[in-house]
Amino acid sequence: LNDATSPPFYPSPWMDPSADGWAEAYTKAQAFVRQLTLLEKVNLTTGVGWEGEACVGNTGSIPRLGFPGFCAQDSPLGIRFADYVSAFTAGGTIAASWDRKEFYQRGFQMAVEHRGKGVDVLLGPVVGPIGRNPKGGRNWEGFSPDPVLSGIAVAETVKGIQDAGVIACTKHFILNEQEHFRQPNWVNNVGWVDAISSNLDDKTLHELYLWPFADAVRAGTGSIMCSYNKANNSQVCQNSYLQNYILKGELGFQGFIMSDWDAQHSGVASTYAGLDMTMPGDTDFDSGFSFWGTNMTLSIINGTVPEWRLDDAVTRIMAAYYFVGRDKAAVPVNFNSWSKDTYGYQHAYAQVGYGLINEHVDVRADHFKSIRIAAAKSTVLLKNNGVLPLKGTEKFTAVFGNDAGEAEYGPNGCADRGCDNGTLAMGWGSGTADFPYLVTPLEAIKRTVADNGGVISSVTDNYAFSQIMAQAKQATHAIVFVNADSGEGYITVDGNQGDRNNLTLWQNGEELVRNVSGYCNNTIVVIHSVGPVLVDSFNNSPNVTAILWAGLPGQESGNAIADVLYGRVNPGGKLPFTIGKSIQEYGPDLIYEPTNGLNSPQDNFDEGVFIDYRAFDKKNITPVYEFGFGLSYTNFSYSNLEVTKVPAPAYVPTTGLTTAAPSLGNSSKNPADYQWPANLTYVYKYIYPYLNSTDLKEASQDPEYGVDHKYPEGVTDGSPQPRIAAGGAPGGNPQLWDVLYTVTATVTNDGAVAGDEVAQLYLSLGGPEDPPVVLRNFDRLTIAPGQSVSFTADITRRDVSNWDPVSQNWVITNSTKTVYVGSSSRKLPLKATLSSY
Ligand code: BGC
Ligand code: BGC
Repeated sequence: LNDATSPPFYPSPWMDPSADGWAEAYTKAQAFVRQLTLLEKVNLTTGVGWEGEACVGNTGSIPRLGFPGFCAQDSPLGIRFADYVSAFTAGGTIAASWDRKEFYQRGFQMAVEHRGKGVDVLLGPVVGPIGRNPKGGRNWEGFSPDPVLSGIAVAETVKGIQDAGVIACTKHFILNEQEHFRQPNWVNNVGWVDAISSNLDDKTLHELYLWPFADAVRAGTGSIMCSYNKANNSQVCQNSYLQNYILKGELGFQGFIMSDWDAQHSGVASTYAGLDMTMPGDTDFDSGFSFWGTNMTLSIINGTVPEWRLDDAVTRIMAAYYFVGRDKAAVPVNFNSWSKDTYGYQHAYAQVGYGLINEHVDVRADHFKSIRIAAAKSTVLLKNNGVLPLKGTEKFTAVFGNDAGEAEYGPNGCADRGCDNGTLAMGWGSGTADFPYLVTPLEAIKRTVADNGGVISSVTDNYAFSQIMAQAKQATHAIVFVNADSGEGYITVDGNQGDRNNLTLWQNGEELVRNVSGYCNNTIVVIHSVGPVLVDSFNNSPNVTAILWAGLPGQESGNAIADVLYGRVNPGGKLPFTIGKSIQEYGPDLIYEPTNGLNSPQDNFDEGVFIDYRAFDKKNITPVYEFGFGLSYTNFSYSNLEVTKVPAPAYVPTTGLTTAAPSLGNSSKNPADYQWPANLTYVYKYIYPYLNSTDLKEASQDPEYGVDHKYPEGVTDGSPQPRIAAGGAPGGNPQLWDVLYTVTATVTNDGAVAGDEVAQLYLSLGGPEDPPVVLRNFDRLTIAPGQSVSFTADITRRDVSNWDPVSQNWVITNSTKTVYVGSSSRKLPLKATLSSY
C-alpha cells in the first residue's frame, strides 16, 4: 500500500505562442495581461468564495477596466440553479446516439443558453469519470467507458459549446472514477479519511483515461477542471506530472486548469504544479481564507513564485476568453444560483448587496424540438419479437411503474434531483438543471392512445400488487417503466451515496416486471437508468416481448419514448456500455469502506485498459447485450470491405526547445503597495487579493508562514525547456492524426422501413496485451428501405498505435493488425488484415 508515486515535473509550461489555432487569442491575452496590476492578476485566478456572487464559481473582477470577472456555472446537461432553461439529454444518453451532429448541436444549444444568462465558463463536458465501474455515481454525466466514443463526443461537444461563445470546462481531470472518498471524508467510528488515490500505469493512462482528454484539448477546450482525488498518491490539482508534464506538456493544453470545488490543497505547490484558477476560491466553503488571493499576492512579492507563472495563468484564462470570442458574446449575469427570487442579495453568503438578482431571462428558444429528437435517437432497442412498433390502435394498453409518471412534488421537487420519485430523466448532483417541464411517458403514451380513441389505464405504485395484477390481466399490451439512479456523493438517495450499491433496478423494478409479465404475455419493458442494469431476470421471458433502454432523456422524455414505441422514430441508438449478468463481470469493485486506516484508500487500476467490453472480451464472458448493440425496426447487412493504405510521412518525435517564459509585468515588491484600500467595505468571508498588514507573516494569516519549504528543482526556471516528443500541438503530436488507412464498406437496409444504422469500425492491435478489439471509428447512417450506402472511415496513426512507456511515445508495433466492421462489438461480419506500416 501507499507505494504508487507520481514523479515531479517542473517548471510548469507556459503558453506556446505557436500553438495551432491559439496565436490570435494569445496575442490579445498578452496585451490584456500587460496592462494589469498584480492585484488584478491575482483576482482573475481566485474565486471570491462559495456563494460570494451569482454563479457557482466567480473570480474577482477588474473594476478599473470595467471587467466583471468570470462566471462559471454547472452543468454538463444544461444550466444548474437557474429558471427558464432547458433540461437536455444527459451525456451518457446522448452517447447512445453515436451521432456527431447530435453531440455538436447539444453542446451548441446548451451554451447558447449559458451565454444568454451571462455564463462565461460552462462546467462540462465530462470525460472523467469515464466509467471504469458501472456503479460510479457520475458516469451518466460523461459519455461512455469507451475512450473513442467518449473522445469523439467530447470533441464535438466542446466545439459546439465554444462556437456559441462560451468556454467549455472539460472535467474531471483525472481518474475520478468513484464518489466514495473522492474528497477527504468523515467516516463514523474511523475518523477523517484522506481522499482516495487512483493508482495507474503510464500505458493505461494514455490508452484509456487520457485519450478523451486529448481529444478535448485538440478540439480547443478553453479550460479543464482538475479533480478531487489523488493519482498515484499525489493530489491531482497539485500533481506536477499530470498537470505540467502530461496536460500542458505532452497534450499542449493552452487553456487554463481550474480546480474542482475545494480540490486545491496548497497555495505555492499547486501554483508550481500548473493550477491556474482556484474555485470557489476559499480553502473550505466560506472559510474566509484562500490558498491564493492574498496569499498569491504574498508569494509573488516575497519572491517564492516568479511573476511569469502568475502571468501565464492569467494569460491562459484570457486566451480562452478570446479563443471562444467572449469579448463579443458576453452579457452581464442576469440570474442567481442561490435564489429564484427577483430581488435578493448580490453576495448571498454575506447577505449584503440587496437588489435585482434575477431577471428570469428565458433562454430556451426552440431547443425542446432538438431535445426530443436527440432523446429518441439515443433510445436503444434491446429486444423486439415484433410487437414494436405499436400502432396506437392496441385494444387495451396498460402502463405500469412509478417511472412512468409524475413525481408528487413535480420534476424539481428534490434539490439537485436528489431523489428517485416519478419518471427518471436525469441523475442527481451538480450535473443537473431544473426541468422547465418534464413530459412523462404516461402522458405521452396516453395522448397517442386517446387520439386514436383507444383504452388505456395505469398503475404507478410499484407496490400495489393486486391492482397491478388486475390491470395486467386485462391488458393486451403492457408497458412497464423501471429505473436505476445515481449521482454525486454529497447526496445519498435510498442508501446510495452517489455511487450505486448494485446494478439492480430501483423501486422493486424486477418484481414489477415479474408481476406484470406474469399476467400479460405482451409486456414491453422500458429502462431509464444511469448506466447498465441487470436485466437477466426478465430478458429471456417469452412474455417480455420488447425491451428498450431510454437512458436519461431530459425534459422531452415521454415524447421521445412514445415516438419510438409508436414508430414515429425508428430506433437507431446503440449501447454505449455493456450489459452483463453481474457486477463482478465488469472487473474490480468500487471502494466503499476505508481500506487504509485514515490514509488514502489505494485504488489500484490493475485491470489496465480492460474495462467494460474489453473486460468481457478478455475473459470470454458473453454479455447479455454487448457494447455497440441496438436493434431497429428494419434490418441491415454489411458487405464489400475495402481498405486503402494512405501514404503518410514517417512519424517524427517533436524536438527542440520552447520559448522562454514571457514576462508580462514586473510588479513592485513593496507590501505597502498592496494594502487594503481605504474606501472598500469588506464583504463577510469574501476572498480578496489585498494585504491587511505590511508585515507579511501577519498578512498571510497562516501560522506556517515563513517555514522554509523545500520545493523541487526547476519550479522557478523560466528558461527555454525541451519540447516533449509525443507532444507538439494541442492534443499531442500532430502526426498522430495522420490518416494511414481509409476503410469503406457497404451497409444495406434489407427491410421495409427507413432506418438509421451505426456502422462501427474496430481494430485488433494484435499484441499479447491488447484487447481482442477496440472501437476506433463509427458513423450513423440513414438508409432508405432496399438501399445501400457506403460507410467510410479513416484510421489514424493514433488508432493503430500503442503507448510505449520506454520511448514515451506512440509506436506502431509489429503485431498483425486487423480491422473489423459491423453493427456492434460482437457482430463484426467484415474483417481484413491491415498491411503493415
Ligand atoms: C463538482 C463539479 C462541479 C462543482 C461546482 C463539484 O463538487 O465535482 O463537477 O462543477 O462542484 O458545483
Ligand atoms: C454544492 C455543489 C458542490 C458540492 C461539493 C454542494 O453543496 O451544491 O455545487 O458540487 O457541494 O461537494
